[in-house]
Amino acid sequence: MPQADNPDRKVPGKLPTDDPEGLRAALHRWFAEVGKDYPWRRTRDPYEVLVSEVMLQQTQVATVLGRGYYRRWLERFPDLAALAAAPEEEVLRAWEGLGYYSRARNLHAAAKAVVAGHGGEFPREVERIAALPGVGRYTAGAVACFAFGQAVATVDANIARVLARLFDHRERVDTAKGAERLWGWAAELVPGRGAREWNSALMELGQTLCRAKAAACDLCPAAAWCACADPLALPMKKPRPKVTEVDEHVLVAVRGGRILLQQETGRRRRGLWKLPARAPAQLGDLAPTGRRRYSITRYRVTMHLYQTGEAQAAGPDERWFDLAELPGLPMPSPYRRAVEALFSLRADPSADAHGGGPQPGVG
Ligand code: SF4
Repeated sequence: MPQADNPDRKVPGKLPTDDPEGLRAALHRWFAEVGKDYPWRRTRDPYEVLVSEVMLQQTQVATVLGRGYYRRWLERFPDLAALAAAPEEEVLRAWEGLGYYSRARNLHAAAKAVVAGHGGEFPREVERIAALPGVGRYTAGAVACFAFGQAVATVDANIARVLARLFDHRERVDTAKGAERLWGWAAELVPGRGAREWNSALMELGQTLCRAKAAACDLCPAAAWCACADPLALPMKKPRPKVTEVDEHVLVAVRGGRILLQQETGRRRRGLWKLPARAPAQLGDLAPTGRRRYSITRYRVTMHLYQTGEAQAAGPDERWFDLAELPGLPMPSPYRRAVEALFSLRADPSADAHGGGPQPGVG
């Protein structure tokens, strides 16, 4: 059904379709047939839903589930109280390989806030959930809907893409105005009953058929309601910044079974331990003994390794550790892979058993 000329498209929040019931019914039927049975779709525990939503923000289902991150996290921190009581170093270590460590710190802070500010009882209202550290509008809506069954909208990247295409939304979705229109449509569409299935169906459609780089419109249950002629052109966003190549020079100083490490102080990886960075001029006559490459955000990094057994003065953020302590320390994946390759260490035996280990390219 062509919707492109519908005059209601000009009104924020007002649906550009005169048949929302038909659209809902078609998606409900499709989801009942093909919807995946993820563990976070089975649980009604708000903590477990929150963990899944935060992990899935920048990480794919295949990694979160297939590599065992979700299961291992819940084994290690089975509830809010366990997470709130854990030391930050242990929390960061458990997150290792997922990257974007602020997510782990925020989860930790949210658990502490629920324990300290809500008597350990997870708040049910969207506004109170959204007030927890690091919990935004999307995550609050997802917890309210998936854990508490409330009829509230939630717009993640998948739902944003589906709605933008469905209603041929030719406005940038990373602007306040463009996003607000999506949220308005999402709120109009969410049914009074069956919101959990509806939001899950929209997400599933974005994950499986209406994907960023491919749209299987022939198989799509929403095709009859879709106004989009050029799916891959939507959603409209600010162009991504270009990838920048950078070099980093790191010391692998090992002496008497001990290794020198540097603690990160930057926002992104604060608290994690890595091989100490040095300016080339500080390395004197040392020659590189190895090289590794990894990506982080828009940077493509070449890490040059300089091995030495000579005495080294530890900098202000640096400490010597026994090599045996390495598996217990939180460490960004590129450095973990480098030290594992050098010293034949395996950080987490359970990660091996499930095909796990750090994920390439997430820092
Ligand atoms: S018809 Fe195509 S573009 Fe439209 S929602 Fe379905 S998969 Fe996406």
